[in-house]
Amino acid sequence: MSRHIVCLSYDFDAMSLWIARGLTTPTAISRGEFGAVGAGRILDLLSRHGIAATWFIPGVTIGTYPEVCRRVVAEGHEVGHHDWTHTPPSKLSRDEEHAGLVRANTAIAELSGRPARGYRSPSWDLSPHSVELLLAEGMVYDSSMMGDDYTPYYARTGDEIVDGEPMRFGPSSALLEMPISWSADDFPHFEFDRLGSALNPGLKSAEAVLGNWLDDFRFLRQNLDWGIMTYTFHPFCSGRGHRMIMMDKLITALKNEGAEFLTMESAAAAFIARQSG
Ligand SMILES: [Zn+2]
Repeated sequence: MSRHIVCLSYDFDAMSLWIARGLTTPTAISRGEFGAVGAGRILDLLSRHGIAATWFIPGVTIGTYPEVCRRVVAEGHEVGHHDWTHTPPSKLSRDEEHAGLVRANTAIAELSGRPARGYRSPSWDLSPHSVELLLAEGMVYDSSMMGDDYTPYYARTGDEIVDGEPMRFGPSSALLEMPISWSADDFPHFEFDRLGSALNPGLKSAEAVLGNWLDDFRFLRQNLDWGIMTYTFHPFCSGRGHRMIMMDKLITALKNEGAEFLTMESAAAAFIARQSG
């Protein structure tokens, strides 16, 4: 049966993203603080459309904004794991990575009544240990890699990478990868970001990005019988007025074009059921 699934995912980083980059001055913190304002607007929008989404929430955000996070749960959204702080696993030791995974999952279980089934790495950069640690922590899926677009796949361990030699792919694991891309993420399109000599100009026209994002879904519908389009948003970024209007248009257009909205956990389960059936 033909299915064209859309997952709306929200990374509720708030100030944790800026703190992980060493930006702790009052203005940098306030930039993250706006995430709580944006989250409220987004929850209103999702409620109006009757859509259950997936919220990847760092453990520190759960502690900083417990009421917003309780609202996420109360309104039927999935809470995904987004680490304890926003430091990418690639920058942590194995022990630090493990400790953060366990600590954040405890906070998620206290918040939502059960541990997370899915994980997304801060800044989308897994370590060589991540797949094994995520499986040990009971994760069904990860959403941090870009090896496909509309079709989930199983994450590998033990790739051998030698510069100048062909890749040697390691074996697939039991961890389902729900792929993402920077092009379907609000941050690079919209967030003006200057760190040292690195500049992300952002601030693109929301209408132009809307066209790209709708075409990503149209390509799926026109070319695949079954697939998942995952969009990634950040409340401090997409919570601004013109982007909220665009997100409303995006959801309305996707509905009109036959999108089936699911949480990422439900989409992963649908993929696994389809494979085994
Ligand atoms: Zn994040």
